[in-house]
Amino acid sequence: MAAGVKGIAILGSTGSIGRQALEVVRRFPERFRVVGLSARSNLALLSRQVEEFCPAVVAAEELAGDGAGARNPLASRATVLELVAHPDAELVVMAIPGAAALVPVLHALQLRKRVALASKEAVVIGGALVAREVAAGAELLPVDSEASAIWQCLRGEERDVARLILTASGGPLRSRPVEELDRVTPQEALRHPTWRMGEKVTVDSATLMNKAFEVMEAHWLFGVPWERIEVVVHPQSIVHSLVEFQDGSVKAQLAYPDMRLPLQYALFYPQRGQGQFTERLDLVRVRRLTFEPLDPARYPAFALALEAARAGGTYPAALNAADEVAVELFLGERIGFTDILRLVRRVVDEHRPGSELSLEEILAADAWARQRARELA
Ligand code: MG
Repeated sequence: MAAGVKGIAILGSTGSIGRQALEVVRRFPERFRVVGLSARSNLALLSRQVEEFCPAVVAAEELAGDGAGARNPLASRATVLELVAHPDAELVVMAIPGAAALVPVLHALQLRKRVALASKEAVVIGGALVAREVAAGAELLPVDSEASAIWQCLRGEERDVARLILTASGGPLRSRPVEELDRVTPQEALRHPTWRMGEKVTVDSATLMNKAFEVMEAHWLFGVPWERIEVVVHPQSIVHSLVEFQDGSVKAQLAYPDMRLPLQYALFYPQRGQGQFTERLDLVRVRRLTFEPLDPARYPAFALALEAARAGGTYPAALNAADEVAVELFLGERIGFTDILRLVRRVVDEHRPGSELSLEEILAADAWARQRARELA
């Protein structure tokens, strides 16, 4: 590969994050070369991506014999793990939604590939295992806007952090009366006011499960104890998160909300990218940045998830798996919006964690919770 060109593998290339990562790559063909792409089921889009970016390897879960891989003579069919291991893949963008990201994330970290992580569930359920690899020298770059903001504030600082303050838009249901939440439809829950994201994370933003996941992500990525991570509701999504240092000084990262910004930051790291994907921030036009406390009655999933996080072990794996099933059932109109929490709570309450935290234990808890959530639904 030519000098100065970074080889990139994108896992989950047809999802919202994967597509936006390719938008960044498309703008800087002299800086990036797509080495591998993977998708689960959107083979039509994957074929078009293969044609445009000519990756060396393609992995598709549902790829038939004459599928996307065969269309491009350069592309060979591979598994996701082979794709991660490809010698030209210096940076792996993890954009597979849900728990399925954990195994490829650990594999990439063990191979000491630089990982740009959008799949926060991998850290939610496997935080201790991921943190162990990072402590041993692996590089994990956050792509989540809040985690990226914290990372940007921390660069160049000694890690004497007093407090992390994560901002939350409050999601699509922030102004909906609490007593009406059981009538919320999937269409309403998917109408996010400020962010363009995948369906699962948008519903998680409506329950604020997503924000609890981001607290866990911040805890494991930046090594800050639970009691020093706070969340404040900020409906404009301009301040993406803040770090308070021991001297009382607070740094924040601001921009109009656009995932291509944190994606570009991770792709170009250690440099800062030059692509301007959002308008320049016009503070006079923004006029007002507002902040509110998080209302626990509106977002009971937030407290439940943090309880599971503090309990540790395989509790977060059970929580996440139950949430994945519950959100899927809600999107399929099989259960109501407030049933998501009810179902997740029952599964977490029933969960009996094993004695030691290993990948096998996590995957077993994940499988158990998925099955149990379906039985209880
Ligand atoms: Mg986020």
